[in-house]
Amino acid sequence: MKKHEIVIVGSGIIGICCALKLQLQGHQVLLIDKNDPASGCSMGNAGHFATEQIFPMASASIIKQLPSLLIKPNSPLSIKPSYLPKIIPWMMRFLMAARREQFTKGTHALKSLNDKAMQAYEDLIKASASEHLIKKAGYLLVFEGKKAQQ
Ligand SMILES: Cc1cc2nc3c(=O)[nH]c(=O)nc-3n(C[C@H](O)[C@H](O)[C@H](O)COP(=O)(O)OP(=O)(O)OC[C@H]3O[C@@H](n4cnc5c(N)ncnc54)[C@H](O)[C@@H]3O)c2cc1C
Repeated sequence: MKKHEIVIVGSGIIGICCALKLQLQGHQVLLIDKNDPASGCSMGNAGHFATEQIFPMASASIIKQLPSLLIKPNSPLSIKPSYLPKIIPWMMRFLMAARREQFTKGTHALKSLNDKAMQAYEDLIKASASEHLIKKAGYLLVFEGKKAQQ
């Protein structure tokens, strides 16, 4: 394989995994960030390999919750009224993506990506001698009914 000099912008989990994988393939990689490595979203998460998360955010259930999410004072979702004109085109695409057919396509796409994720992580964890940081405890993902999946 031809070797390249590669620059990756962003040293969160995504940038770090890409950099390590490319390095293992023999490429020379420079990882740059405006802040410290893994100091963004990747620093404050729950640390769970969320391969079961195959359901797209754009779903009928989220659309149903939108009014209360937008009104409640402590809601994780808030949109500044001045930002509305900018975000409306994106929201329209989000609404379209929540249609059942698109939701099902998205679920299949995420499943096929996530099916390979754990093995891919294991290779990188081994290569970086980080096995001691991983705890395999297992988990169950359960739904109260068929509707709760959509
Ligand atoms: C509360 C919470 C809990 C979560 N729990 C889980 C979980 O248990 N399991 C799970 O799988 N996911 C979880 N997630 C999601 C997960 O943390 C993110 O999907 C993941 O960290 C995103 O990684 P990233 O590398 O894309 O982004 P980041 O970690 O945000 O990294 C992006 C990096 O790019 C840098 N950057 C951005 N712009 C520039 C620029 N212009 N120039 C230079 N550098 C730049 C930033 O400084 C940052 O360091 C959680 C998220 C949250 C908020």
